[in-house]
Amino acid sequence: MLTTLLDGQKSDILFPMSRKLTARINIGILLLLGAWVAYTQNQKQPPQLTLNKVKDDLYEIEGDGGNVAVYITNEGVILIDDKFDQDHDAIMEKIKSVTNQPVKYVMSTHYHADHSGGNAKFLPTADIISTANARKNIVEHVQSNAPPGVMPARITFTTETSVFLGGKEVRARYMGRGHTNGDAIMYFPLLKVLHTGDMMAGTSPLIDYPGGGSLIEWTKTLDEAMKLDFDTVIPGHGAVTNKAGLMTYRNNVEKLQKRVSGLVKEGKKQDEIAKVMTDEYGWMPGSLQQQWSVPGFFTEFKK
Ligand SMILES: [Zn+2]
Repeated sequence: MLTTLLDGQKSDILFPMSRKLTARINIGILLLLGAWVAYTQNQKQPPQLTLNKVKDDLYEIEGDGGNVAVYITNEGVILIDDKFDQDHDAIMEKIKSVTNQPVKYVMSTHYHADHSGGNAKFLPTADIISTANARKNIVEHVQSNAPPGVMPARITFTTETSVFLGGKEVRARYMGRGHTNGDAIMYFPLLKVLHTGDMMAGTSPLIDYPGGGSLIEWTKTLDEAMKLDFDTVIPGHGAVTNKAGLMTYRNNVEKLQKRVSGLVKEGKKQDEIAKVMTDEYGWMPGSLQQQWSVPGFFTEFKK
């Protein structure tokens, strides 16, 4: 920030002792200090989560990590995902504001800590279910780096499984690679609602190549999901949307595919592609997209 401030004031640098420049630097330092104080204060505050009603007995919890779905039945609650370890108490508080039923199942969309970080705290009292690959990714990649709370599910499936509770169903399906090699798309047949995990998240996809992700397969996987009968979509991150919203996202993934394919075939180097991604897609330097997605483009798109 300070460097940028100085870079932007090149004419002033000719007169390094000018009061104007000194004043600007002081303001820059104050802004930096202010940002740091705000940051550290933020860390001490409990996570701010919001609970929104989606349909009938289905709610979603947004904020700090992936969107959690809360499905209430008269035999217990089914959750989709459980955010970070630090969010557990705030999640339970939100659930208790709408039901006294205990959480019986956590159905996990994928292995990332912002979706599976609550696993350690739910495992003693709930069954956690994930794809076999999501479990494998936790065992192989995550546990060596140990983000707090990420624990593998005790129950896994490869293609499809369902939880039936209190006369209601949640169907988990692996439809192919995309964000990772183990993303489950969750379907609530009675409500015609989809929880996509990070197969739809924010505005631009994160392809986790180290976790088996694929930009080429991503659109095919979403095409499978589009075949289901639904009208409402809870994305992995961002606001609840509808089928058209998911279609728009799918088409944007296809545009990204074509852009990346073109750049790799033109022989562009990694730093050049990284810059295009920052300029056109807002993938900031140091972001997970730059770390996980850009290097993998060369393997996936090289022909
Ligand atoms: Zn993710």
